Amino acid sequence: MKVSLIAFFLLGSAFTLGAPKPAPRPIWITDVTIVSPENLAHLVRGSVLIENGRIARVERKASAKAPADATVVSGEGGFLIPGLIDSHVHLASVPGVPFEMNLNPDAVHAGMIADYYRQLPRSYLYFGYTTLIDLAALKPEILENFRRAPVHPDLYDCGPSLPVANGYPMSFAPPAVRFQLFPNFLYDPAQSASIPAEYKPRDHTPAAAVAADKRAGAICVKTYFERGFGKDRNLPVITPALAAGVRKAATQDGLVMMMHANSFEAQQFAVDADVDVIAHGMWNWGALDRQPELPPEIKTLLDRIVKKRIGYQPTIQVMGGLRAYFDPEYLKMPAIPRVIPAALLAWYNSPQGKWFRKEIDEDNTPDEEMRQGFDRGPIRRVDQVAGYLAAKNANFLFGTDTPSAPTYGNLPGLNGYLEMQQLHAAGLSLEQIFKAATINNAREFKLESQVGTIQPGKIANLVLLRKSPLASVDAYDSIVAVWVHGEQMSRESLTAK
Ligand SMILES: [Zn+2]
Repeated sequence: MKVSLIAFFLLGSAFTLGAPKPAPRPIWITDVTIVSPENLAHLVRGSVLIENGRIARVERKASAKAPADATVVSGEGGFLIPGLIDSHVHLASVPGVPFEMNLNPDAVHAGMIADYYRQLPRSYLYFGYTTLIDLAALKPEILENFRRAPVHPDLYDCGPSLPVANGYPMSFAPPAVRFQLFPNFLYDPAQSASIPAEYKPRDHTPAAAVAADKRAGAICVKTYFERGFGKDRNLPVITPALAAGVRKAATQDGLVMMMHANSFEAQQFAVDADVDVIAHGMWNWGALDRQPELPPEIKTLLDRIVKKRIGYQPTIQVMGGLRAYFDPEYLKMPAIPRVIPAALLAWYNSPQGKWFRKEIDEDNTPDEEMRQGFDRGPIRRVDQVAGYLAAKNANFLFGTDTPSAPTYGNLPGLNGYLEMQQLHAAGLSLEQIFKAATINNAREFKLESQVGTIQPGKIANLVLLRKSPLASVDAYDSIVAVWVHGEQMSRESLTAK
């Protein structure tokens, strides 16, 4: 049977209306250039067979024949890539929404928040993300709901994260609730006076905290080195002894050790602590912030990051997401109504929806001045670091930190596309970006046997693009269809309502 993509989708939706689903027929995706990161040297037209949600065959020749019982899907000369992996998301935070509304939405806003969560998995798929890793979920039930959604990316997580007691980010929550919100904190005896008595030191050692994540089904553990910013500076930070304890336990339990670190000092600490992944770029150079070029001492550190093959997530959109409040064009992007339901977008456009702008800039600085401040300050610095690492072919991992703050500048799915543009502008090649979002993430997080390439045996998480991702970044916005475990979705079917 040969049907066009459009007809196939119509057929598909007719089937889903009825009661029990018939056993899925094999799918033969043909007339596509197969772009798989382990095999970029000779790109050829071919076909891919999906059976029972897995990739069954990969044919790199035009003459291969479809099995008789397969549904044939013509890619019409497009490019087939593995589903993209974003290894740094926070699904339980609604972008642009204050902490309290996020945690306990009032009656007026509850519907708006519920609509957002219904759309959330679809927005990631809309931009081709079929695997996500959540680094720190405030509400585990949000992740469970996500996994129960009718269509959703595969979701892994780091379990409850490991802040040091009263350190970042638990410092943002009021003292009365922060220990409930971050039950897996690390006990630092220096903080004992302000740790409630019901929390016993033995339950909060590095080994105990890592074991709790392991029990919760995590594939990674998230730690932090962050002295804070704004009015929350001089926070307690993880000690070398605690970090060494986490390192040892994570290795024993087979978990990937990640560290939030975005300053020169913090990344130095992370490298010394021998982490697997640094979860941010370096936009904060401390005393060296005003140096126009990369200082030699930072280069020395970056060389160590390259040499040790530490996974590196530049997360440039953390800064882009703040800058968005000072860019009058941002909320007008045509992609936004595709990923955000109408009610929430209307709220973003209301005066109340701009509350976070005041948190970034209390003085009402003109937009232009704020944009220049970002571009000449933290964005310049993070770009210089990413560019240096790109020239040395560091082990880049694609992670967006969506949302990194309560900002509407980091929207699900779209933020990944914006991050790719940032990475490319900072000097990463298209091949580096493609590998970071596929094979590098799969390897680092030990998911390589399941995802990350187009090879027989892997989960059939695939994306069909009209354009080549090795020719331009905007190829990632030319998606035609997405497959998750072999289930095919047109891009159009994933848009927000
Ligand atoms: Zn994060």
